[in-house]
Amino acid sequence: MKILIIEDEHSLREVIQRFLEKERYVVEVAATSQEGLRKIAMYSYECILLDIMLPDGNGLALLQQLKNMHKQENVIVISAKDSIDDKVEGLELGADDYLAKPFHLAELNARIKSLIRRNQQQGESSIVQGNVKLFPDKYEVYIENSLLDLNRKEYDILLYFMTRPNHLIDKAILAEAVWGDHIDQVDNYDFIYAQIKNLRKKLKKAEASIEIKAIYGFGYKMTTEDK
Ligand code: CA
Repeated sequence: MKILIIEDEHSLREVIQRFLEKERYVVEVAATSQEGLRKIAMYSYECILLDIMLPDGNGLALLQQLKNMHKQENVIVISAKDSIDDKVEGLELGADDYLAKPFHLAELNARIKSLIRRNQQQGESSIVQGNVKLFPDKYEVYIENSLLDLNRKEYDILLYFMTRPNHLIDKAILAEAVWGDHIDQVDNYDFIYAQIKNLRKKLKKAEASIEIKAIYGFGYKMTTEDK
């Protein structure tokens, strides 16, 4: 799960980043509205934390641009002033949630989890595909009733596929989602092949009814047995 923090206040941005990284998110940051927009245009994020008062413009203007770009990202507006106007306008412009500063990091995490649960898990605490059940809050995967032993990257990759069943997944997009935006600088994607190879082996050995198929020249697709 990749999150973008658009916040000019250096110390706050770092505190949020460190906290969310501990919560196992991939975190990207932007200190200005322009930098944020540039990243949003180039990459995709599961969730964007958007400050309102930015040095080069208002976060609400950025929200409007996001809407014009038809971006589907979840947005949580974080505003210094507990202004009811910002809140109303932000939500009208398509923000999914609003959090007034100062806030507790645990509260922020709860809001992010709730957004993701609503949008990617249809409100459920687990994601089910075939006989595979994944619990994002616990980072656990079960096949039938047996716990599947996965490393961190294998888990993150599987989570990405589980929320996009039967979708063609571009390997570059997958790499960015699991490793971070900087990964577009690499020469090759051998590191993904290795992780996916191991993940497939583990799924097969545990008799999972889902399969991650390679789509030549493009990337991957996770299919369920009945599809
Ligand atoms: Ca600010």
